[in-house]
Amino acid sequence: MSTKLIHHPYRPPAGFDAVLPAVHKASTVIFKDTAALKTQQWQDKSGYTYGLHGTPTTFTLEARLATLEGGLHTLLAPSGLAALGLVNMALLQAGDEVLLPDNCYGPNKDFVKVELAQWGITHKVYDPLDAAALSGLITAKTKLLWLEAAGSVTLEFPDLIGLLQVARQHDGLVTALDNTWGAGLAFDAFDLGLPLKGDSRGVDITVHALTKYPSGGGDVLMGSITTRDTKLDQTLKLTHMRLGFGVGGNDAEGVLRGLPSMKLRYAAHDASARLVAHWLTQRSELAQVLHPALPGSPGHAHWAQVCTSAAGLVSVVFDGQRYNVAQVDAFVDALKLFKIGYSWGGPLSLVMPYSLRGMRQFGRFAGAQQGVLVRLAVGLEDPQDLIADLGQALSKLA
Ligand SMILES: *Cc1c(COP(=O)(O)O)cnc(C)c1O
Repeated sequence: MSTKLIHHPYRPPAGFDAVLPAVHKASTVIFKDTAALKTQQWQDKSGYTYGLHGTPTTFTLEARLATLEGGLHTLLAPSGLAALGLVNMALLQAGDEVLLPDNCYGPNKDFVKVELAQWGITHKVYDPLDAAALSGLITAKTKLLWLEAAGSVTLEFPDLIGLLQVARQHDGLVTALDNTWGAGLAFDAFDLGLPLKGDSRGVDITVHALTKYPSGGGDVLMGSITTRDTKLDQTLKLTHMRLGFGVGGNDAEGVLRGLPSMKLRYAAHDASARLVAHWLTQRSELAQVLHPALPGSPGHAHWAQVCTSAAGLVSVVFDGQRYNVAQVDAFVDALKLFKIGYSWGGPLSLVMPYSLRGMRQFGRFAGAQQGVLVRLAVGLEDPQDLIADLGQALSKLA
């Protein structure tokens, strides 16, 4: 993948063969004459019509992301959340139903619960670890199944193959995966190695918060939607055009700069996070360490079925009987290298506390569970420094 992303086809202006593609910025694109105006199609990327519909810079980025994800068509959106919203809006109509995993990215759940509900679109939440239960939730109204591997915050790895096998028994049900955690590197979402049904061997659509590992800098907001299905791509593209989801050339460049080093960075985040996770399992202060590659972490067997690598996220659970919220907050405040902040994917390690109460409908965190979960996003610092930092902050709990 690194070689493919570094040697990706790009035609520079004559006589200027720089390493990085140029940054093109435009709202207006000039047409040579009315004949050119009338024949230019914005849908097929054969040319340019208006900055909102693509520039050489955004088309180059889209092509590279399609390569990364193993898809054919990619669209860019102004954030990962905007990309999730676009899929919802393009594929659902009044009377339809959408299924969400219990551990999906929270703001996607909010969008479905609030915005889509106002448009007469209903939803159900399913247990990502129970593929058998999924079939009981699918009706003729169900048009979209969201998947996320691993899930947000609690990091359960879903039974991807089992869930997709159930979904494939229902014609007209589109499967969309939030692929931000896997980043196109941990597993191949469009080809999970097992025949599911017909010629499909994976999901129909992937969404990627490029804000995370593709940008890698903590300084860009962007999302993408990728598919192998040309008809689906046309549907998504029409909604994309109507919504006006353009992205800026400089932001696209930020992601283009990040892509060639992404596989190396992902491997480094992975290796450090596993060291940190393993060290944390030996700490008596913690009730549980959540990381899909740890045996005993929810969905570990499903992770092992399709992945060998993992993103740099580790969550830890503090027992509510032993530590109150103020004590856990003091632990978080005592961390020096892990900074308190949302998002992840850059060089800087980050930390975020979450209350377990009401967080989940299924699994071990369901209901009015006491306690606090702290999510660590392991950055690119020396892992031994990170471990020392965690050690000194844990000692503050006593
Ligand atoms: C961060 C994130 C998003 C949203 O990305 P933004 O660019 O911040 O909107 C979506 N899904 C997952 C899994 C994420 O981690």
